[in-house]
Amino acid sequence: MNATPRKERRVARVVRGQPASDGAGVRLTRVIGQRDLDMLDPFLLLDEFRSDSASDYIGGFPDHPHRGFETVTYMLAGRMRHHDNQGNSGLLTPGGVQWMTAGRGIVHSEMPEQQDGLMWGFQLWVNLPASDKMTAPRYQDIAPERVPEAAPAQGVRVRVLAGSVGDVTGPVNAVATAPVYLDIELAPGARFAAPLPGGHTAFAYVYEGSVEIGPTGAARHVARGELAVLERDGEGFGAGAGAHPARLLLVAGRPLAEPVARHGPFVMNTPEQVVEAMRDYHSGTF
Ligand code: FE
Repeated sequence: MNATPRKERRVARVVRGQPASDGAGVRLTRVIGQRDLDMLDPFLLLDEFRSDSASDYIGGFPDHPHRGFETVTYMLAGRMRHHDNQGNSGLLTPGGVQWMTAGRGIVHSEMPEQQDGLMWGFQLWVNLPASDKMTAPRYQDIAPERVPEAAPAQGVRVRVLAGSVGDVTGPVNAVATAPVYLDIELAPGARFAAPLPGGHTAFAYVYEGSVEIGPTGAARHVARGELAVLERDGEGFGAGAGAHPARLLLVAGRPLAEPVARHGPFVMNTPEQVVEAMRDYHSGTF
């Protein structure tokens, strides 16, 4: 790891995810994109879906459109089949990630490919800058074995989806917001510390156990189902586990600081562009 002293970011606020339902009755926890945290530029939405009861997920997400942003699906357990209106298809399996740039528009379905068992994962929406909103759709389908793992300290394992930990670099690339997306596992008493790009918006979402986040002496306790918004000031991130193992996502991206006009799966810069998106979708030109 980087030996240079760096200032670890403090936690600005802690937000708890809210129960929600989307698609054809999929029950999930909405963490970003809800009353207490509308968005976190450039991040528009974060959902965690986790259930071993098929009735919570079996309906899936039948055909629906997207325009103007990217969807990032990361699976921990279960299998999800993706299909779009341009003939693209793929299967997401545990540990795999799909970084989809919807750009000017796709219509797709995301359906569980299992009748029972645990379905667990996350979907993040990342905004695109005005210059990229009408770009051609693009998929980065990354199989589990293509996600490298770093072991930066005793008791710390990090799957690097995007960005870098030491000399381990994640497979997602060429994304407008230069994102960092890490899946971090901490053994009891272990602590992870790493640099974070200056000026990036950053958050940590704890999905197992609980973690102390922030500089030693000024850390905040963050429990499962809670998201810590990090202050902008500082160049580092630190998180330590207590007496139990813990798992969390660390996500960062360059803020766009552009106007956001949002209606469901259409995220543009002006209300007129949203109306145009709805018109294009209904006339079948996606
Ligand atoms: Fe979708």
